[in-house]
Amino acid sequence: MNVLIVYAHPNPHSFNAAMREVAVGTLSRAGHSILLSDLYAMRFNPVLSAEELQGDLSAIQPEIEKVRRADLLLFQFPNWWYGMPAILKGWMDRVFACGFAYDEAHSFENGLLKGKKALLSLTVGARADYYQQAPERDLLRVLEPIHYGCLAYCGMEVLPPFIVYGPTEMSEAERKAALEAYRQYLLALPQLRPLRFSHMG
Ligand SMILES: Cc1cc2nc3c(=O)[nH]c(=O)nc-3n(C[C@H](O)[C@H](O)[C@H](O)COP(=O)(O)OP(=O)(O)OC[C@H]3O[C@@H](n4cnc5c(N)ncnc54)[C@H](O)[C@@H]3O)c2cc1C
Repeated sequence: MNVLIVYAHPNPHSFNAAMREVAVGTLSRAGHSILLSDLYAMRFNPVLSAEELQGDLSAIQPEIEKVRRADLLLFQFPNWWYGMPAILKGWMDRVFACGFAYDEAHSFENGLLKGKKALLSLTVGARADYYQQAPERDLLRVLEPIHYGCLAYCGMEVLPPFIVYGPTEMSEAERKAALEAYRQYLLALPQLRPLRFSHMG
């Protein structure tokens, strides 16, 4: 399949960069074709313009073309303030445009990106036990605006996210193990069952 990796981290030596490299290596060795949008390297402009809002998608056509070709959209990013880095939020604002990703008559089950899969791969600053201490820290709940409000809304099947907790605090061995766990997760992609949402009955 064609996999579009949308990668949002400003530091090419970050743990997110290492995860992106694991994805590129693992998926291409498994026979998939990789398309990449490295948003900071591209100096991607995240600001949705008035022209785009009125339907002129010419400036965003290259990204739209990548999404069109992709069977799987894989988003790699750090959790910043319980969400995506602004550059990635802006990519979604601009690329998942009305008329391309959805329209008034096409959302959820018949969203215009139906047939594609999406996967969030992210890092968070705190360790896993922090996230287990309160319902407000439930990361599936935190990620719902992206999973449900955006990806499922546009018709995509949303795969369960892969999350690395606290890579900054990890030992070198723990980081190696986290990257290996990610490799194994990607190898098992065909077996992953998509998330279920209430509109699916
Ligand atoms: C604006 C902002 C808001 C934030 N909000 C939140 C929040 O709401 N909730 C939350 O939990 N966290 C939050 N954070 C923390 C953030 O999520 C973490 O800093 C981030 O997820 C860590 O990932 P990283 O790729 O930036 O790690 P890095 O700091 O880049 O990397 C971690 C370590 O991995 C090492 N490394 C890099 N490559 C490799 C490799 N190949 N093999 C082994 N080790 C390697 C690096 O050298 C480094 O030592 C926020 C941070 C910012 C800046």
